Amino acid sequence: MMIPYSTQCIDDDDINAVIATLKSDFITQGEMVDKFEKELAKYLGVKFVAVFNSATSALNIAYKILPLSGSRAITTPLSFCATTNMMLENNINPIFCDCDDNGNISPESIKANITNDTKAIVSVDFAGNSVDVDRILDICKEYNLYFISDSSHSCGGEYKNKKIGQFADMTIFSFHALKPITTIEGGAIATNNEIFYNQAILLRSHSIIKKRLWNSELDSIGYNFRLSDVASSLGLSQLKKLDFFINKRHKIALFYDTFFKDNRHFRTLNIPSYIKSTHHLYPILLNQHLWCYKEEIFNSLLHLGIGVQVHYKPIYQYNLYKKNHSIIENVENFYKSEISIPCHQKMNEEDAEYVADSIIKILQRYN
Ligand SMILES: *Cc1c(COP(=O)(O)O)cnc(C)c1O
Repeated sequence: MMIPYSTQCIDDDDINAVIATLKSDFITQGEMVDKFEKELAKYLGVKFVAVFNSATSALNIAYKILPLSGSRAITTPLSFCATTNMMLENNINPIFCDCDDNGNISPESIKANITNDTKAIVSVDFAGNSVDVDRILDICKEYNLYFISDSSHSCGGEYKNKKIGQFADMTIFSFHALKPITTIEGGAIATNNEIFYNQAILLRSHSIIKKRLWNSELDSIGYNFRLSDVASSLGLSQLKKLDFFINKRHKIALFYDTFFKDNRHFRTLNIPSYIKSTHHLYPILLNQHLWCYKEEIFNSLLHLGIGVQVHYKPIYQYNLYKKNHSIIENVENFYKSEISIPCHQKMNEEDAEYVADSIIKILQRYN
């Protein structure tokens, strides 16, 4: 039996919601999409939500909506490659900057990387912890930059008692199976800007503008990045449980924090009290003397049924991005030390104890 680092949590309510929609007249483009968007907007405290068939599609559209083609966007190399792949897709040049101890983009490094052709900051709430929103907003104001937040890890998280989604020009969420809530595959843009929202809705569905009866008009290329009604009904049902999921992951994270306190092998993330994490990931960061054993440690954990993963290989290390890119020291060190251990809503206390015990036992071999 493997305890995965993360997994979906689907119950009978979710299944029944999906079945009900499957049995209804509309399985796509009915009213469930609209309902899901309205409920999510209410939950997040934002004016508008547009849902998509993935966060990758949502990122693609967010980049298209803003006048960014030919410009530079400052971003983090510690993310899933979709964050920047969709920049390349839209002729935006990603500029990778340094990270802080928590794996989030460093505001100092953002400032150091701004040039005349920089038009946007694209951050990621690594592991489910909000970036330093106040400082990023200050920088955006000072240099007149757009702020796009890839919050694929942090739906339901908070910064200073406000839900993530309320701060950036556009905030992107993912509903992939392993993310805080799931629609199997899916994503969203949250925004308070009506123009961005209308653009998102248009581009999501072929850019077709309905006229009278059968007539319609096209002024630009559009896509089919729609989320189905069936998927939206799953999203609606999952959304009701989001706070419960976060609470369960929070308890596991608290247990780990206490268990691992002052150990000699690794550190854990220090989350300030004004940030409510979704605990999408629980990273441990090995001390330097263990870096050369990481592969062995990783394999030993898998062998014991502990589903670990590493987040992330710095994006600039991929062939697609390698040209002209030098390594960034803190990012490299973060990558060398990071292992994500199981933390999800389907784990019980015994699972967490087993994981924590096993990790310490394995690492004691390297004393
Ligand atoms: C998962 C993820 C994505 C992509 O999400 P999809 O819904 O699978 O397209 C993008 N960015 C980050 C940071 C992610 O973790």
